[in-house]
Amino acid sequence: MAEPLLEIEDLSVTFRTPGGEITPVPGVSLHVNPGERVALVGESGCGKSVTALSVTALPPTDRAHRTGHIRFAGRDLLGDANALREARRGGIAYVFQDPMASLNPVLRIRDQIAEALPPMPRAARRERILSLLTDVGLPDPARAADSYPCGLSGGQCQRVMLAMALAAEPRLLIADEPTTALDVTTQRRILGVMDELAAKRNMAVLLITHNLGIVANYMQRLYVMYAGRIVESGPVRDVLSAPRHPYTQGLLAAVPSLRLDKPRLQDIPGTVPPPGRFPPGCAFAPRCPRATPACSEAVPPLVTEGPRAVRCINLPQ
Ligand code: SF4
Repeated sequence: MAEPLLEIEDLSVTFRTPGGEITPVPGVSLHVNPGERVALVGESGCGKSVTALSVTALPPTDRAHRTGHIRFAGRDLLGDANALREARRGGIAYVFQDPMASLNPVLRIRDQIAEALPPMPRAARRERILSLLTDVGLPDPARAADSYPCGLSGGQCQRVMLAMALAAEPRLLIADEPTTALDVTTQRRILGVMDELAAKRNMAVLLITHNLGIVANYMQRLYVMYAGRIVESGPVRDVLSAPRHPYTQGLLAAVPSLRLDKPRLQDIPGTVPPPGRFPPGCAFAPRCPRATPACSEAVPPLVTEGPRAVRCINLPQ
């Protein structure tokens, strides 16, 4: 089997705050294979973005302390500064949720994309920028290149963000809720483009989302995260057709459907505990319909069976 492109092993992230230390991610392990499309799902506050940003140490190291292992293309990103620099320069690229907040409002699109390109003659640079904007499906690339962000729609700006991420020809694209701020039609178009480009370039994708509909359509493997730990993982089709962890079951029951034979939409009672204030044992216990006193005694182990894994001590036999 091919070596994983990205391997996160027992990563813990602790922030120093004026009120003391908090650990929103106490121990997460996951991997992404070359060219693979993997989703990381969970409600807001589960630690998905902290995990994703920690891959390239985006929360500054003077404020966030990371332990565990992060390897990219076999190199240690936690202990090897050169490996981290190279990963940031092009091996790993990010697309974030709100393109309007990520783009510089006073720079033309062409100049923002140019920042992500290696040095090259002016004409070649223009050609490359137009080719990237064409790849992400912008209908009039020349106009978009000469525009400021305020001259483009939200969907067009997100395509520009994708073009910027692709400019460095990354091997891994980390997309953190890339379509949350967009309408459903635009969402589909952008995810379609991302999917197509990933396949064409053999680029791996780690998609952070709370939208299981997106996961079903575009992803191959899935990690479900709760309170900074993976609680279930496996091939998308298997997990979504037969979820085993009560949290995954709750997330699926909360997905709206137009089918009349589907039971009424259900929500998961309660809320995600604040970062670092997780209850003892299984952090999901206060919201879990299957919880027993034993659940609060120790963090349940992640038990692997074939391509699937689940963290629960009360699985139905
Ligand atoms: S370990 Fe207990 S509380 Fe946690 S998910 Fe399983 S049944 Fe629920």
